[in-house]
Amino acid sequence: MADREKAPGAVRQITSLTNPVVKDIRALAMKKAREETGQFLGEGLKLVTDALEEHWPIAAVAYAPAVRDQPHVAKAAAAVRARGGDVLEMSEAVLAKITRRDNPQMVVGVFGQRLRPLADVKVGEGEVWVALEEVRDPGNLGTIIRTVDSVGAKGVVLIGDTCDPFSFEAVRATMGSLFHVPLVKTGRDAFVAWARASGVRLVGTHLKATHDYRKVEAHAPTVLVMGNEQAGLSEPMSAACDVRVKIPMAGRADSLNLAVATGVMLYELRRNSL
Ligand code: SAM
Repeated sequence: MADREKAPGAVRQITSLTNPVVKDIRALAMKKAREETGQFLGEGLKLVTDALEEHWPIAAVAYAPAVRDQPHVAKAAAAVRARGGDVLEMSEAVLAKITRRDNPQMVVGVFGQRLRPLADVKVGEGEVWVALEEVRDPGNLGTIIRTVDSVGAKGVVLIGDTCDPFSFEAVRATMGSLFHVPLVKTGRDAFVAWARASGVRLVGTHLKATHDYRKVEAHAPTVLVMGNEQAGLSEPMSAACDVRVKIPMAGRADSLNLAVATGVMLYELRRNSL
């Protein structure tokens, strides 16, 4: 958000739909603005609370007058202010405009993006990470981040040209897990080189595999590798995997949805820990 109309320490009241702050936050719906600012928008008090717990950078919290006096909202606003963020009170019409929803959440936050370097990723014995090759659907990506959090897997590696984990749709689908799950972005060659050097086992999922997914050992340091929604795993990525597995299907569907397949695989790989 641009440094406009700042009154440090004070709650700023914003009721005009043409206020420049509204324009700045609304622009975060677009990838270009997210890239330029390194920020993104998240909706709901839970997201703001999750971000505060994980010490994520928070540029601003905004809430509607109707929830101003709720203790959790006041506590979150005080925490954001203590970290140097802006506290904004916005009419529901303004919240609807910035979130592009008819029935907006009463609390929204503007957060700083955070990606981890691949070199920092260490996969321990019995731990699981997920690698997604060219995932395109933000709803799938957000659902996978939420599932990774749910099963106690350790993080997500985004490989190649993927959708943006900080888009509105992806953030919504994570239901706050975005703040609890480390994310890494890298290229395919760098990922394969890192996997070789760090000795992790790459478990690929492939519709042409013959190995049943229930036969995979659950204790080794593992990265589960999932393919793109249309094309599946690329040939080089499939070849780089130590094992390729298939989830059997009985009906006439060609494949499972990517997020569903990831969930099935994660519950199997985490079977000894849940
Ligand atoms: N047409 C694509 C193909 O031929 O691979 C379908 C891709 S599928 C929608 C997306 C990803 O979900 C796959 O790359 C794989 O990672 C996973 N997947 C879906 N169904 C699967 C199954 N039955 N067994 C293993 N992986 C599966």
